[in-house]
Amino acid sequence: MSLLVDYDSQNIFAKILSGAIPSAKVYEDDRTFAFMDAFPQSKGHTLVIPKADACNLFDIAPGDLQTLIVQTQRVARAVRDALSPDGVRIMQFNGEAAGQTVYHIHFHILPMWDDQPLARHAGGMADINELNALAAQIRAKL
Ligand code: AMP
Repeated sequence: MSLLVDYDSQNIFAKILSGAIPSAKVYEDDRTFAFMDAFPQSKGHTLVIPKADACNLFDIAPGDLQTLIVQTQRVARAVRDALSPDGVRIMQFNGEAAGQTVYHIHFHILPMWDDQPLARHAGGMADINELNALAAQIRAKL
């Protein structure tokens, strides 16, 4: 898919925002939503998305992007404080060739531990009870 895509209001994250699809919610305000990645690459893999419609880095409005990155920092701090990883990787993909699979912009927060390799991107599905427990742990540190 090209980098110049029209926003699809039926994409999976739009459905999470509307409540049509459930998620393990970590944080929500009027402009931002954060939830556990259902196919985590590491324990605590969290996604932060804007409520505004935007496919990627190129079509998000600057003000929405500013809010998104500030809230990503906030949620990343909570992930760090809840799980004490050795490092935290922030990822954001634009276009299929870059690894993007969902065309609603998002930042990945990936806690990382020494000697623990990351699982495959969008690999195995996690248990929803485990995701909800992690979300609660992270939420408690916000
Ligand atoms: P990207 O490849 O950067 O577009 O990332 C999309 C991410 O969304 C992947 O890490 C997927 O594991 C994750 N994902 C896909 N569907 C869901 C879902 N229903 N709930 C939570 N995360 C999802």
